[in-house]
Amino acid sequence: MVTQTTYDYIITGGGAAGLLLALRLSQDTYFDDKQVLVIDASSKDQNDRTWCFWSKEDTIIDDAISYRWENVLFKSPWLTKSEQTQPYTYNKVRSIDFYNHVHDILSTKRNITQLRDRVVDIQEGDGYASVKTATSTYTGKQVFNSILFDQRYKNNTKYPLINQHFVGWTVKTNKDVFDPSQATFMDFDIPQKGNTRFMYLLPTAKNEALLEYTLFSKDLLEREAYTHGIKEYLDGLGVKKFDVIEEESGCIPMTCYPFWTNNSTHINLIGIAGGWAKASTGYTFRNAMIKTKDIVNQLKSGTAIKTKSKTRFWLYDLLLLDILNTNNAIGSKLFSDMFQNNRLQEIFAFLDEDAQNLGDLKTIWSMPKGVFIKALFNRITGRF
Ligand SMILES: Cc1cc2nc3c(=O)[nH]c(=O)nc-3n(C[C@H](O)[C@H](O)[C@H](O)COP(=O)(O)OP(=O)(O)OC[C@H]3O[C@@H](n4cnc5c(N)ncnc54)[C@H](O)[C@@H]3O)c2cc1C
Repeated sequence: MVTQTTYDYIITGGGAAGLLLALRLSQDTYFDDKQVLVIDASSKDQNDRTWCFWSKEDTIIDDAISYRWENVLFKSPWLTKSEQTQPYTYNKVRSIDFYNHVHDILSTKRNITQLRDRVVDIQEGDGYASVKTATSTYTGKQVFNSILFDQRYKNNTKYPLINQHFVGWTVKTNKDVFDPSQATFMDFDIPQKGNTRFMYLLPTAKNEALLEYTLFSKDLLEREAYTHGIKEYLDGLGVKKFDVIEEESGCIPMTCYPFWTNNSTHINLIGIAGGWAKASTGYTFRNAMIKTKDIVNQLKSGTAIKTKSKTRFWLYDLLLLDILNTNNAIGSKLFSDMFQNNRLQEIFAFLDEDAQNLGDLKTIWSMPKGVFIKALFNRITGRF
């Protein structure tokens, strides 16, 4: 039980975004005299997900990275392309390593309190925000909330919602079939069944890999459909016998719903709750690394906190989602064209929404122009 109730910063939800922000605050002496509270309902002692992200610089969580690839493969009926990631590496973080790493660092900081409690409400106040939990109420000069309370993104008609849903199995096979030097971003060479379906494959040994059977579509499947997809894929590699070492699953909202417009003076939305999941790919972790750094800089400079805004990248994502929403089977072709016509470094810069990268138009125009023009026309004329 925590007795202090007033804080400079309260971080609600200590998952990827919340802990990355807390870690950044803990590593900057500017915040040593600021009181920080991190609240999460869970003890975060399970390996509940595997994060991958690309980087070409040292990161604050290098110690939690368990594997790096320097090659990635894209595969579809139209294209097989293997590419070096340099100057980037594609990095794997097991969530349990991340949670343990960050919790250990935070526990050495006297100004940072970690609380296990369920947040039930967050309210804007006069000069502060209040956070009500199952057991108490806390006030903060700034609250950074990564709990997805707002469900309006699910049923609004303006912004289509595509789900990125998947089940992943880490398997150990009885023979050597994987290439541990190469991660497979997307293998569309599987039955599409009218959707955008692909296998995501992260091998860490010749006989060990995480395989995620993944869809970008509206409706979720029965669990057996995903695991059947993984078994079929392994069968195609000639693997008849394997052990499942770990399992994970997820459903990441891919939407251009502007979550961040619900920010208020003392409450800022971060993580998926703040719209940090890249709408066209679901990648969130890299965004969270970049955006938590921005927040720290804004706090230090005393400028108003801005967690996200609409840019031209938001529009590209919106058009892509409109297309997948009206023709869900086209994803395999769209991503094939993107990988065919762009170097991987250009795609990473595009996904990073690197505004200095003027290659973004090239990346977007490398996909079938007709469907993009039609989606743009429909947006302009209000047909969506
Ligand atoms: C299995 C899986 C794999 C993924 N892999 C990748 C990947 O490889 N790369 C990538 O970029 N993205 C990936 N993502 C997407 C995204 O990065 C993760 O979902 C990421 O964890 C999102 O961060 P977050 O902080 O928004 O949410 P979370 O990490 O989910 O954090 C939210 C926290 O809020 C807590 N919470 C919820 N409700 C309450 C409450 N009422 N009171 C208190 N606490 C509460 C939860 O316990 C949780 O810790 C993956 C997602 C999943 C599910």
